[in-house]
Amino acid sequence: MADCIFCKIALGEIPCAKIYEDDLVLSFLDINPINPGHTLVLPKKHYTTLLEIDPDVLEACVLASQKIAKAIYTGVKADGLNFLQNNFRAAGQLIDHVHFHLIPRYENDGFLTAWPGRQYPSGEMESTLKKIVAEL
Ligand code: AMP
Ligand code: ZN
Repeated sequence: MADCIFCKIALGEIPCAKIYEDDLVLSFLDINPINPGHTLVLPKKHYTTLLEIDPDVLEACVLASQKIAKAIYTGVKADGLNFLQNNFRAAGQLIDHVHFHLIPRYENDGFLTAWPGRQYPSGEMESTLKKIVAEL
């Protein structure tokens, strides 16, 4: 993808603070970290979202993410770690090249302080379940 910044990083056209690389996967520090050590993991090949990434490439990204997560957690002495992934603008995706965030967390660091879960109105859990299962 000619205009994709993460493709340009994967091709070495734009520099990055590289954490890890293999045939399929690249990982580097996020330039605007939630906390120091906030890392991105992505396929070298361009896919826009989780919905179209090939399974073997996804597997490689997830396995690399676990390895890198352990290094981050230990390396920056984190108290916790988020593994996050945004798809489409409504979910906060800014770069249209699928990527995974590994974010080291500390007690009271102020990120994601609320998880505003709601209750389903009567019957909506069952109807929602049917809509999703019908698509599998
Ligand atoms: P998302 O909102 O999930 O698309 O996240 C995009 C992330 O990419 C943000 O956290 C940005 O700080 C990060 N980012 C954007 N450009 C660069 C870059 N050149 N190097 C490293 N991280 C970047
Ligand atoms: Zn790309």
